[in-house]
Amino acid sequence: MSELNEYNGKATMEKITSLAKRRGFVFQSSEIYGGQNGAWDYGPLGVELKNRIANAWWKEMTQLHDNIVGLDAAILMHPRTWEASGHVENFTDPLVDCKKCKTRFRADMISEENLAEKKCPDCGGELTDTRKFNLMFKTNIGPTEDTASVIYLRPETAQGIYVNYKNIVQSNRMKIPFGIAQIGKAFRNEIVTKNFIFRTCEFEQMEMQYFVKPGTDEETFNEWRKQRWSYYEKLGVKMDHLRWHQHGPDELAHYAKDAYDIQYLFPMGWRELEGVHNRAGYDLGRHSQFSGKDMQYIDQDNNNERYIPYIIETSAGLTRNVLMILCDAYDEEQVASDKNSDSSEGTANGTADDWRTVLRFHPNLAPVTVAILPLMKKDGLAELAQDIRAELKEDYATDYDQAGAIGRRYRRQDEAGTPFCVTVDYQSKEDGTVTLRFRDSMEQVRVPKTELAARLKQEIKTYKRIK
Ligand code: ATP
Repeated sequence: MSELNEYNGKATMEKITSLAKRRGFVFQSSEIYGGQNGAWDYGPLGVELKNRIANAWWKEMTQLHDNIVGLDAAILMHPRTWEASGHVENFTDPLVDCKKCKTRFRADMISEENLAEKKCPDCGGELTDTRKFNLMFKTNIGPTEDTASVIYLRPETAQGIYVNYKNIVQSNRMKIPFGIAQIGKAFRNEIVTKNFIFRTCEFEQMEMQYFVKPGTDEETFNEWRKQRWSYYEKLGVKMDHLRWHQHGPDELAHYAKDAYDIQYLFPMGWRELEGVHNRAGYDLGRHSQFSGKDMQYIDQDNNNERYIPYIIETSAGLTRNVLMILCDAYDEEQVASDKNSDSSEGTANGTADDWRTVLRFHPNLAPVTVAILPLMKKDGLAELAQDIRAELKEDYATDYDQAGAIGRRYRRQDEAGTPFCVTVDYQSKEDGTVTLRFRDSMEQVRVPKTELAARLKQEIKTYKRIK
């Protein structure tokens, strides 16, 4: 219970889910038909947030590392891939069903007592024996539906990287150590898909596979653990909501020599956000064996020494990162009303105190960077505001809102996580200055409109979260 208290009753999964829907971050898939389990649609704000998280990761991995290159492999792969990877044989969850209420459970997620007594945790009915359930979605390709046409939707993006490793070494003259980064969809037939977008059947991963000489793997593994930790620090995530979890011998996947998860304190408790794995020589060894192709690396700088590279993997869920960033940014606070300088009407800031919901996104991740708000529609203020927007949108994601009282418009932007608002008023017409309002502090300063773009750039670069 104590861990839940850290949220002080603020971010609950219900609040996040409802805000996500209300503001167009995430909708249930095919909602008009009652929804599709384990599938979600990203709305106008959600797709921007997801893209920015993906871009931040991509920049970190490729632009900031001279020896990491990108890839975008197909979702459909030769079925032998999944035999080689071990997924056909090992990618299973233990499954039990209640004979009475028909609920299906992952055996490793119910108590040992219930399992031993074969008793349903929900209704007390009798449970079936534990069965192995493969998480891969299987379908058929081509005009016939026989065993020869079986194909899988990839359950991870990593295999697309392994099967292309030789292509990339040859085409891009990569020398070990080097990495390949990829972002893409993955599919798993998850038995339990609760907690909004935390665990879904269709999701996106951001994976980087780093190829090293055997013997240097442990050092590189530790180095990547450090790098992944400081990445989240750079994103401005609450660092006391992150921790490491090392996999014990029972948890280690069939391919792993060592594995650590970065866990985040979600409203429902500590859960995995990203895995950092030492996969040793398993993957390329298996692909050599199953494809009959030589997957050895030839070290031309070292007497043509040959070896199967070891692999260090960093594997993060993109959609799970979206949930993490939403939870991390979510805040509710009681605040004094926004002041607005020389506004004779349309401010509606009558009450002394007010509650606001605010998403404290890092400006680099916020779906809208700056909203332009004319104090009034009339007297040329709307036109002036539109001109300012036209100038800013070359460099920033902008929004424009002229509807309703200014205080309410600020609240709408707070709830969407917009870090900056620019208000255009009568003084703007006279002296060319506008009000720049900061989401986190609610402070307002007057800035010449000609200096706005540069000021925003500087504010984004030096941004520090204050709460
Ligand atoms: P779990 O044990 O929670 O099922 P896992 O250990 O199998 O997850 P990995 O295979 O290591 O997960 O996947 C790497 C990352 O991909 C995870 O850290 C997570 O962020 C993301 N991920 C995995 N499965 C899902 C899913 N069903 N929905 C959303 N994200 C997922």
